[in-house]
Amino acid sequence: MGIAKDTAHPEGQGQYTSLAEIREVCLQCRKCKLRQGCRQVVFGRGNPEARLMFVGEGPGEQEDIQGLPFVGKAGQLLDKIIEAAGFSLEEVYIGNIVKCRPPGNRVPTLEEARTCMPWLMKQIQLIRPKIMVCLGSTAVQGILDPSLRITKIRGRWAERNGILIMPTYHPAALLRDESKKRPVWEDFKQIRKMYLALAERECTAGNPIV
Ligand code: SF4
Repeated sequence: MGIAKDTAHPEGQGQYTSLAEIREVCLQCRKCKLRQGCRQVVFGRGNPEARLMFVGEGPGEQEDIQGLPFVGKAGQLLDKIIEAAGFSLEEVYIGNIVKCRPPGNRVPTLEEARTCMPWLMKQIQLIRPKIMVCLGSTAVQGILDPSLRITKIRGRWAERNGILIMPTYHPAALLRDESKKRPVWEDFKQIRKMYLALAERECTAGNPIV
């Protein structure tokens, strides 16, 4: 896996011109077994022209019920952190590596993640974020490298296809372990600083992003 690679997936490889279009097709997807055990495909939420995008692991119970990513307790915490860092929820986009809830909220298998990734790749291609935040190991392994561990690389910028990538802990990990809040806040301060620096650079070049 990794952001540079696209895998075989007829629907995921289609030519889509808008997020709405790909969402409509994705909602019908049955390419892996995860779809059999969930209520619905959870595509994503937020600004289709976001310059800051968040990628998590997969839907949980509340997400499966509501059809939106990050709306349970972990999602509410993520929203709070995003706003505390100076962003509005309307300016960001939030998605997941897999779009159907794994049974019992287990970690998606590598095969499930590989099968679903083309949808995320299409989302990224259409949104064209400047900065992407990988929330937790599954996101880091899907976007950057399957051998990476979040504990080793959180807080360190990476780059793929012109997109700056910041790995940080998943908000669910913060709910389990309060000591992770401080490093995540440090990561968000870096994200904010970079976002503003990029905005200033684009503004100077006559193409403002905020
Ligand atoms: S998890 Fe992804 S690939 Fe599997 S059925 Fe759902 S949308 Fe399709």
